[in-house]
Amino acid sequence: MKRIAFFDTKAYDKEWFDACNQERFEIEYYESKLTAKTVGLAAGADAVCAFVNDDLSAGVLGRLKEMKVSVIAMRCAGFSNIDFKALGEGMRVVRVPAYSPYAVAEFAMGMLLSVNRKLHKAYNRTRDFNYNINGLTGMDLYGKTVGVIGTGKIGQVFISICRGFGMKVLAYDPYPNGKLDCDYVELNRLFRESDVISLHCPLTEQTRHLVNAEAIAEMKSHTILINTSRGGLIESRALLNALQEKRIGGAGLDVYEEEAEWFFEDHSTEGIVDDILSLLTVLPNVLVTSHQAFLTEEALRNIALITLQNLEDYFAGKPLVNEVLPAMK
Ligand code: NAD
Repeated sequence: MKRIAFFDTKAYDKEWFDACNQERFEIEYYESKLTAKTVGLAAGADAVCAFVNDDLSAGVLGRLKEMKVSVIAMRCAGFSNIDFKALGEGMRVVRVPAYSPYAVAEFAMGMLLSVNRKLHKAYNRTRDFNYNINGLTGMDLYGKTVGVIGTGKIGQVFISICRGFGMKVLAYDPYPNGKLDCDYVELNRLFRESDVISLHCPLTEQTRHLVNAEAIAEMKSHTILINTSRGGLIESRALLNALQEKRIGGAGLDVYEEEAEWFFEDHSTEGIVDDILSLLTVLPNVLVTSHQAFLTEEALRNIALITLQNLEDYFAGKPLVNEVLPAMK
């Protein structure tokens, strides 16, 4: 039986992978992330199963190759944490390109509703028997303009949700899809005209810091920015400055540039040493969540089923429909 070293395991991963595995593979679950320090745990494994914040840089990949691990099964869509230059021959990468675009798009709308109507503030107030509603004013989404950056699987679902709210949709994508109910425009116009901006493109060399100080300077002072894609799309310091100086309306952030250090773990006892994340977290018009947009039962089931099928295909020598190739980076 082939052995999988499964890194960064959470209770919900084990639950769904055990349910879907049906004893096809021997899965060793490790709570630790894959790093240069923990890579030794993969000794004797045929495959590694990794997640968004695992370290797949050159050093770690080199060690995995020495240990004869020949396939990395990413249990996520994104792969910006893999050093493809270091991958070379003899090691292949598979992923789960789509598991539930609804999970992420619905969460993005949830963040927007929360930031706009201050639900996160209201929740804290009423829990304290404070029924004052001063300062909780939002805007109607009906008739407002939303700018959607990236109109792939998740962006498309988000667009149809926004249309359901009666919003006008502007979109930017280097590969426009003529069938969508939106107007494709240049990025500058999207930044200038949108009341809400939601990011749904991958993190690449071209998109890193797509939302930087210059982009934010174009935005309206009430614009709400939603990021459920990857933290590196936003220059966090520039966003924090703009929020503090009230040059932008608010932000919903499910991802953060330096999240690998903090997200998915409980740091409530010792706190965190990241001034930007700390300040973003406590600003009243910001909602930070810990990369949970994917977290629905349907998504978890699909992630487990597709990851295990990817591995079964690899070991059976079948074509890998979900292979990640360096050219995709
Ligand atoms: P997708 O591949 O279906 O769509 C991505 C779209 O972005 C494509 O249409 C592509 O043409 C477009 N794009 C590429 N470069 C661009 C650029 N420079 N500017 C604008 N658009 C560009 O991907 P998807 O399934 O819709 O996922 C989108 C992103 O969501 C993923 O890359 C991933 O980072 C993120 N994601 C986050 C979570 C979460 O839990 N927060 C879960 C799943 C996916």
